[in-house]
Amino acid sequence: MLRHSPKYPGGIFFCFQPNFKGTYIMNVVTRFAPSPTGHLHIGGARTAIFCWLMARHFKGQFHLRIEDTDLLRSKQEYTDSILASMRWLGLSWDGELNYQTQRMDLYRKYVQKLLDTGQAYWCTCTPEEVDAMREKAKLMGLKPRYNGHCRELGHGPAEGACVRLKCPSEGKIVFDDMVKGRISVDVSELDDMVIQRADGTPTYNMAVVVDDYEMGITHVIRGDDHVSNTPRQILIYRALGLKEPIFGHVPMILGQDGAKLSKRHGARAVIEYEKDGLLPQALVNYLVRLGWSHGDQEIFSLEELVELFDGTHLNPSAARFDVNKLQWLNAHYMRNLPVAELARLVQPFVLDCGYGEIAQERLEGLCVLFRDRAKTLVELAASFKPMLAKADELEYDEKVVAKQINDETKERLANLKPVLAGCSDFDGPSLEKTFNDFVAANGLTFKQIAPALRTALVGFMGGSHLHDIMAFLGREETLARIDRTLQF
Ligand code: GLU
Ligand code: ZN
Repeated sequence: MLRHSPKYPGGIFFCFQPNFKGTYIMNVVTRFAPSPTGHLHIGGARTAIFCWLMARHFKGQFHLRIEDTDLLRSKQEYTDSILASMRWLGLSWDGELNYQTQRMDLYRKYVQKLLDTGQAYWCTCTPEEVDAMREKAKLMGLKPRYNGHCRELGHGPAEGACVRLKCPSEGKIVFDDMVKGRISVDVSELDDMVIQRADGTPTYNMAVVVDDYEMGITHVIRGDDHVSNTPRQILIYRALGLKEPIFGHVPMILGQDGAKLSKRHGARAVIEYEKDGLLPQALVNYLVRLGWSHGDQEIFSLEELVELFDGTHLNPSAARFDVNKLQWLNAHYMRNLPVAELARLVQPFVLDCGYGEIAQERLEGLCVLFRDRAKTLVELAASFKPMLAKADELEYDEKVVAKQINDETKERLANLKPVLAGCSDFDGPSLEKTFNDFVAANGLTFKQIAPALRTALVGFMGGSHLHDIMAFLGREETLARIDRTLQF
């Protein structure tokens, strides 16, 4: 059953199917098609997230296809790494994982179909001859192109021969891009493209069309580095008598300075963000907003994204990558995670710090104390250090000591010590009361003692409430740290 979607301007049609309640839902099948020639980078991750959300929103299907036809550059380790990143991001795929190298027969079958119907032909021109044609066209002020030399020569398969698609001689290819709107390309800009190389392998455009058709893909969402391929793919669909899917080309991600995103800007692989201690939900949230909006809302749970993301409101202009905003989001998610979950997540980073094994309960205590100030799990784990060291190994920030520890503050700490030593229950609430009473009884302000006590306890101006820090350290360690400071 076909219906027109009122939502999309420009004549985009969607296929609707009745669901079990008898109402109509959109049949959406998307795919992500990485080439395993490197790890999954944030640009690819964003594309994958868009495709995944689109499928989940419409209760459709999301497929993953490994485009590994470049035998020289494709590596199994990259496929494994891409899959690991997909899982880490929570992007589950439906059905079997597809590898293009396992589908060669299928591509050949479709190429044969085009040969049989006279839409494609064998070309025996050598690369040198094709280059010469291109040069000649350039000299005449035309686009460099293959001149159709073998079109009507009726060659059969031969050593070194490739197969080319007959491009129509005139007309326009018009499509309505989900992101960029209407795109129109004059076929005079295209030439008879190679669809099967001399070695019998399909070209990218041919394989993608066959796969997208065979997999029932309704929406092809990909990076706009592929936008120039789309008119060519549409020509292949038409030659095969197939209806093309809806296309959406998302613009690239730029660095903060507007230049092409590079390592310098934080353009890295997803696994590197994982190692930096980012939470996947923060990265997903960040990347989705980088190219899509829902009013001015910044924070979205995954459920909310699935609910809201319908493939509209995709921004056609390139987004700028902002590391600070990513970290801000990460800090937000770290603050709001259940503490037991946060403790579980920070565990491997704690091990990396060399603190040794720490019991879950203690780790939770540390998370409560320090999570408000950390932007990443790496920072969080690092911030535990002063709490785990023994008083005589604690590293003090010299500048902080110079500013906070003097004869006056030492005297106050010396007076506080026996009071703390006598505090009956050494827990947060009792310590808070004991400390407040001490401050009041001595006619002090908090400013006159709290920073000095903080310096004594953790060695720098960080951490959480003083009473919580003391409760975590315990009586003995608290007193030992004050003692050490008194010797400065
Ligand atoms: N394999 C292509 C790439 O990694 C994607 C092709 C597509 O999405 O059509 O750039
Ligand atoms: Zn030729």
